[in-house]
Order: sequence, then C-alpha cells, then structure tokens
Amino acid sequence: MTAAQHGASALTVVVPVFDEQDVLPLFVQRLRPVLDALEVDYEVLVVDDGSTDATPVVLQRARHTWPQLRIVRLRANAGHQAAISAGLERARGELVVTIDADLQDPPELIADMVRLAREEALDVVYAVRDDRRTDTRFKRVTAHGYYDTMRRLGADHGPTQAGDYRLMSRATVEAVTALPEHHRVLRLVVPSLGFPSGVLTYRRDERAAGTSKYPLSRMVRLAVDSITGVSLAPLRLATWLGFVGALVALVLLVYALVGYAVGLTVPGWTSTFMVVTAVGGVQLLCLGILGEYVGRTYTMQLGRPTYYVAHDSLTGEEPRD
Ligand code: UDP
Ligand code: MG
Repeated sequence: MTAAQHGASALTVVVPVFDEQDVLPLFVQRLRPVLDALEVDYEVLVVDDGSTDATPVVLQRARHTWPQLRIVRLRANAGHQAAISAGLERARGELVVTIDADLQDPPELIADMVRLAREEALDVVYAVRDDRRTDTRFKRVTAHGYYDTMRRLGADHGPTQAGDYRLMSRATVEAVTALPEHHRVLRLVVPSLGFPSGVLTYRRDERAAGTSKYPLSRMVRLAVDSITGVSLAPLRLATWLGFVGALVALVLLVYALVGYAVGLTVPGWTSTFMVVTAVGGVQLLCLGILGEYVGRTYTMQLGRPTYYVAHDSLTGEEPRD
C-alpha cells in the first residue's frame, strides 16, 4: 500500500536505529516535546535496522504512549544509508527530516529547520557541524579526508561537514527515491539534485549513550560507495598504472635484450623479484578497482532490494515471501 493511501502528514522524522536500546528512551524524551511544540501533524518513522538488542522492545513500549511513533523493522541489518532510504520511501510527510538516534544531532534544531524551509521556501536544509570537538580525532581526520577527496573528485557534496541530518521537501524525497542507484550515498545524491537549499550550523554533541555503530569497516564501505558513486577516476587510475607499467616493461625488455646480447645475463634476482611483486600488486589493485564497479553493475542488474522490510507498524506490511 502506498504512503498516500495512508494519508499525508506535514512532517516525517526518519530515524535509522541499530542496536540503540540505551539511547532510545533519552532520544524519545528529547524529540517529542520539540515535535509537539510545532503544532503540526507529524509522524516519527523509526527504521529498526535489524537490531539484535532490546531495541524492538524499547520501541514498542514507546509507541504505547506516543501514537505518532511508527516502527519499520528491517529483516536484517542493511546499513545506515539503506535504513534511511527505507524511511524515505515510506515517509508521508510534506517535509522529511532525517536524524540519528544517538543525540549527536540535537533534535531542537528541527524547529529551526522547518522554520527556515518555510520562510525561505527551501527544499533542502542542511545541518552543518561547525564544531566536532566531541568526535574522536580519528573521526575528524577521516571526515576531513573524505570531504577533501569528494571535492577533488568533483562531487558536489553540499556544505562540507553536512552529515545526514537534513530536512527535505516532498519533491526532494521523491527525486531521491526515484533514483535507481543501489548504493546511494545521500549526502552526495541530495546536493547533486540541485534543489534550493539553506544551511543551519550546530554543535555536534557527544553520543548520549551506547557506542558508535560505525566501525572502520563501515567507514571504508561508505568511502568506497561514495567514490564509485560519483566518479570513474579509479578506473582511469588503473588505466594509467597500466600505461606506466607497460612503459617500464618496455625499458626493461630493451635492457634485458642488450644484456643478453653482450653476455650479461646472470645477476638480476633482486630486480626480477621486485618487478614481479610490484607488477603483481598493481595488477591486483586494478582488478580490485574493476571488481568494485563490476560488482555494483552486477548487483544492480540482479535488481534485488537493498533491504527487506519485516514489519511496518502503520501498514502491517509483512515479509513478501
Ligand atoms: N545505524 C543504522 N544502521 C547501521 C549503523 C548505524 O541504522 O548499520 C544508525 C545508528 O543507530 C545511528 C545512526 O545510524 O542512529 C548513526 O550511527 P552512529 O551514531 O553509530 O555513527 P557515528 O555517529 O559514530 O558516525
Ligand atoms: Mg553518532
């Protein structure tokens, strides 16, 4: 059943959560007064990204006293970006805000986002972190490298340091969800659509409870998805490496032939070893780069969804198989 059949609301707040049993009660406590004070018809769409802790229980409990809370449960962990996409595809609001559950993004800002969007007729309002002192040094350095790389690759990633805390109009949400891309990185996709946008700055707080759900492996995934999503530069790099390799091989070939001709053929173990390892390494790197793109083409060709919904508290949607 489509969102429209279930009636629209003025605002949807999409919250991806994965194993957030500790922080959710605090989050609900802080979010609710903000939304109630807006005096609009709203829904809070929590996407439970296959949590394995008590998150589902905590959410069900919260729903008893907060009818605007809607829970969409994914069957397995699909990842932060896919969870947000699941929320966007189901949101019924004219305006949609995406926010993390760990209170690093202060919910109070939602009121300002809504006001700014209305006053200036904006389709997108980015919340930009002007202060990341509460993030670890490692996180700040890698984030800086990330935005820098994206800029070099020519991606319009919107305001630097804008994460996934943002407001989007219905038109924006529809444009985003219409994209067939499987590995959508929203912070790159949304700015590329070119809707009128504004910026609000905020101070990033510390995580209120629990631990980060973004280990290094997920950060690498996001970086690879981002790069392959915006650029073919790595493929070109592979081509250039191939050129350079071929050139070096040519020089070595001449060297070897000349050596053979004048009878100097015995020494050379070290150089042979180095060339073999270097060429092997570069070849594997290039294969890996190719693999990333081919793999993406392949998964898109299969047409499988990036997440499976187990249950939607609004529609009672059940597993499809
Ligand atoms: N999250 C998710 N699925 C995942 C990983 C994270 O839905 O696979 C949620 C998480 O519960 C949180 C948000 O995404 O609400 C951001 O994650 P986190 O705060 O752990 O990331 P960090 O702030 O450390 O980058
Ligand atoms: Mg966080």
